[in-house]
Amino acid sequence: MLQQTQVATVIDYYNRWMQKWPTLQALAEASLEEVNELWAGLGYYSRGKRLQEAARKVVSELAGQMPRTAEDLQKLLPGVGRYTAGAIASISYGQATGVVDGNVIRVLCRLRCIGADSSSPPVIDRLWAMANALVDRSRPGDFNQALMELGATVCTPKAPLCGECPVKQHCRARLRVEKELALASRKLLGKLPVVPDVEDCGVGGCPLCPPAAELWDSSLGVTNFPRKAAKKQPRVEQTATCVLERRGRRGALEYLIVQRPSSGLLAGLWEFPSVPLAPGLQQEQQREVLVDHLQAWAGQPVAAGSLRFIGEVVHVFSHIHQTYVVYSLSLDGDVTLDLASSPSRWVTEEEFRASAVSTAMKKVLRACERQRGEESGPATGSKRKRGAKPGAAGSTRPGTQLSLRTFLRAPNPP
Ligand code: SF4
Repeated sequence: MLQQTQVATVIDYYNRWMQKWPTLQALAEASLEEVNELWAGLGYYSRGKRLQEAARKVVSELAGQMPRTAEDLQKLLPGVGRYTAGAIASISYGQATGVVDGNVIRVLCRLRCIGADSSSPPVIDRLWAMANALVDRSRPGDFNQALMELGATVCTPKAPLCGECPVKQHCRARLRVEKELALASRKLLGKLPVVPDVEDCGVGGCPLCPPAAELWDSSLGVTNFPRKAAKKQPRVEQTATCVLERRGRRGALEYLIVQRPSSGLLAGLWEFPSVPLAPGLQQEQQREVLVDHLQAWAGQPVAAGSLRFIGEVVHVFSHIHQTYVVYSLSLDGDVTLDLASSPSRWVTEEEFRASAVSTAMKKVLRACERQRGEESGPATGSKRKRGAKPGAAGSTRPGTQLSLRTFLRAPNPP
C-alpha cells in the first residue's frame, strides 16, 4: 500500500484491511471482488490482487509458512520484488540484507557522489551492493528503516538538512559542494589555473559518474545527486463512457455497471460501459463508436441521438493520460438487457460507491451528478438542453427518461 501512496492515505485502508483479513488464511479465502472493493481508490490494483494471490500460495502450497529469506520471498511469492523481499526479510525475520528504495537511492547517491542515471543497471547494482555491505548485522531491520527514514526526513529531495545530518562527515556530495565553493572564490580572486581533479566525478568513463557533458550546477548543491533519466511522458488515450440510468423499484436512481476483464489495467473492477477511442475522432464519430459498442453489447440497435453528451473527465494513471468522453442515457421501466458479453449489475449511488470501482469512474459519476444539479437548479428563463449543443440532432429534453423502445430504436437514416 505504501509503495506509491502517502502514509496519511494508507492508514485507513490498512486498518480496514487488517480488520477484515487479520491472517494469511483469512486473506487467502477472500475473493478478488472483495479485495478490489477494499483497495478501491488506492490505485495500482494489481498490487491488492497479487497480495491475495501470494496469501493463497502460502496457504495452499507452502503449508501456511511465509518464506523467510529475501531470495525465497522474491522467488516464491507473486508481486514481491527485490525491495519488498529485502524489507520483509530484514524487518520481520532479521536477515542481514539491505533494501534500496527511492529514499535509499537518494542518500547513497549523495554519500558517494553517484551522478549517472540512478535507474541504470550499473548504478542499481552498485547501490544494492552498498546497501548489503552497509547493513548492520545485528539489527538489520532497524538499520534499513533508519536509512529510509534518513532519506525521508533529513536527506530530502529538494531541501536536505545537511547541517543536521548524522552522516555528514562521510558525505561526498557535501564535500563536493565545499570544494566547488572554494573553487568559485579562488576564481573570483583570480587565483587560477583550474585543473580538473582526477578524483572528481565526470572525469573518465565511469558508469557511476555523471556524463562529462552534464556540468555541475552550483545552484543545486548536493541535490545535483541523484540524477534521473528524463521521465517518460504518459500515453495519451481517450475512452467513450456511457452512464446508463434508470429509476429502480423504490424510485431511487440506479446505474448500470459492467465488470472489466480479469487481467490488464484495472483488472476485475467495475465501470460504466466504456470503449477505447482511436485518436483524432470528431465528437459525432466518438458518439457513433459508443453507439456501436452499446449495440454490440445489448444485441439491439441503439439510437445515437438518445445519448446525451456530459463532458470530458481526465484521469492520469501512472503511465496513461486518460480522457473519458462521457455520455448519459436514461432508461425507464424494469429493463432487462442481454448482457451476455460481460457481467453487469444495476446499483444505487450508495452501492456504486461501495463497489470495486476506480477513482476515474467516481469522477465520471460526479460529472453526471454536477450536470443534473445544474439542471435542477433555480430556473431562470428557458433551460438549455443538458450537455447538448443548441440544436443538436436527437437531443432529449432535460430530465426526460427514455423508454426502452426509444433507447433500442434504430437511428434515423441520414
Ligand atoms: Fe544527504 Fe546532506 Fe546528509 Fe549528505 S550531508 S547524506 S547530502 S543530508
